[in-house]
Amino acid sequence: MLKVSIPPDVQRTLRKALQAAGTDECGGVLMGEHMGPGHFAVRQLTVQGGGRFASFIRETQSALHALRKFFRQSGLDYARFNYLGEWHSHPSFSVQPSTTDHQSMLDIVKDVRVGANFVVLLIFKLSCRGELEGSAHTYLPDGSCARSSLVLEGIP
Ligand SMILES: [Zn+2]
Repeated sequence: MLKVSIPPDVQRTLRKALQAAGTDECGGVLMGEHMGPGHFAVRQLTVQGGGRFASFIRETQSALHALRKFFRQSGLDYARFNYLGEWHSHPSFSVQPSTTDHQSMLDIVKDVRVGANFVVLLIFKLSCRGELEGSAHTYLPDGSCARSSLVLEGIP
């Protein structure tokens, strides 16, 4: 099972974005570092808001711009740092992907312009106590989807 870990600084960014968006969905692109076999850490993410997931992923231009900037900053180490996938919030319902979410991710992983071997979808919400809750799923170009393990680093 693929493991995706979220470092504390990225968790802070997510919590702030979710709080600011309130009952609206927010989301964006995930950039990750390959830590080891089947293990990735989210190092950076973009935050877009005020719409539905399908509208975020159409904002390809700004997402690709963020990606290029990230790669420049990481010294173009494409083997370690790469596009990992997408994230968005489900402010008022379960963090499991909807049918539309599944379809959108399959469209991305099958898009030859993206050229990904797999893409990850993370869905987050804030619990009533303001804590981050989430789910992780991995999509493959053959059309399959697998539950993945989401690790919130450094939460005692
Ligand atoms: Zn969704």
